[in-house]
Amino acid sequence: MPVKTVARRVELKDYTTLRIGGPAELWEVETLAELKEATSAPFRILGAGSNLLVSDRGVRERVVKLGAAFNSIRTFDRDPEQWIGAATPVPGLVRRAQRLGLSGLEGLLGVPAVLGGAIAMNAGTRFGAVSDSLLELELSIGGRIERIEADQVSFGYRWAELPKGGVVTRARLALTPSTPDRVEARLREVDAARAGQPKIKSAGCAFKNPAGDSAGRLIDVAGLKGLRVGDAMVSLEHGNFIVNLGNASAKDICGLLELIQNRLPSPLELEWCLWGF
Ligand SMILES: Cc1cc2nc3c(=O)[nH]c(=O)nc-3n(C[C@H](O)[C@H](O)[C@H](O)COP(=O)(O)OP(=O)(O)OC[C@H]3O[C@@H](n4cnc5c(N)ncnc54)[C@H](O)[C@@H]3O)c2cc1C
Repeated sequence: MPVKTVARRVELKDYTTLRIGGPAELWEVETLAELKEATSAPFRILGAGSNLLVSDRGVRERVVKLGAAFNSIRTFDRDPEQWIGAATPVPGLVRRAQRLGLSGLEGLLGVPAVLGGAIAMNAGTRFGAVSDSLLELELSIGGRIERIEADQVSFGYRWAELPKGGVVTRARLALTPSTPDRVEARLREVDAARAGQPKIKSAGCAFKNPAGDSAGRLIDVAGLKGLRVGDAMVSLEHGNFIVNLGNASAKDICGLLELIQNRLPSPLELEWCLWGF
């Protein structure tokens, strides 16, 4: 059966939390057959766009987004080892796990990702990362569906070594039965640690923490909070957040990143994924 065309031209700024990014061809897919078709030419896979800095010129490759059919929030139940679709929003998963009394996702509180993006970045906090709660991954690789045990994948700090060209379509979680009250108490702890993070448009932490230190502290000590290029600014609340005050461009953000790096004793490693540079 022919696969229907699911592509349209968009501005990627409408798909990133920084609200920055130029034009691209977006393929929003609802079936594995559509995913196979969409990934048959050079592509990039888009999650919730919460860790992306996209060029003002956009990207040449197809941008593939898993649609609502890959969102399992409605069927998420008490089974601690269930399969969850990669387009399921992490905030909803964390909240629903709490209500069901399932523990393991608390460290992801406040991460505005979808599950696939969280796995690709091994998202988390010092309270735990997504890789702590994974049993198995299902990926589409060149349209072929493969399953991999999570312990066969290398996960590091904000990093996962997924098979090249692999799109995570679902993941089987490994949660621990607990009670809603206990999970809620843990969430409060995580929430308290997040206090002080800006609510303005951002892409989360810009830089990875160097071993034994915090990038935010280094930026703060260097007196860089409030530093600005156009509408891009180092957050006044948290030195490792760069915020878009309104109409920042990718060029503004890059200018600001360069200023920051030049004023630090040693350069920091960027945590964001760069598209189209
Ligand atoms: C306010 C704010 C707070 C944040 N706090 C945290 C935090 O506490 N901890 C933390 O770790 N991060 C945090 N982040 C950063 C961000 O949420 C994470 O990096 C997250 O994992 C990105 O997921 P995403 O779905 O938005 O992916 P995207 O940003 O869309 O994509 C990120 C990468 O994942 C790849 N990808 C996406 N989906 C798939 C898939 N299905 N299969 C394979 N690859 C895929 C993309 O190609 C890209 O390379 C924060 C961001 C914001 C805006």
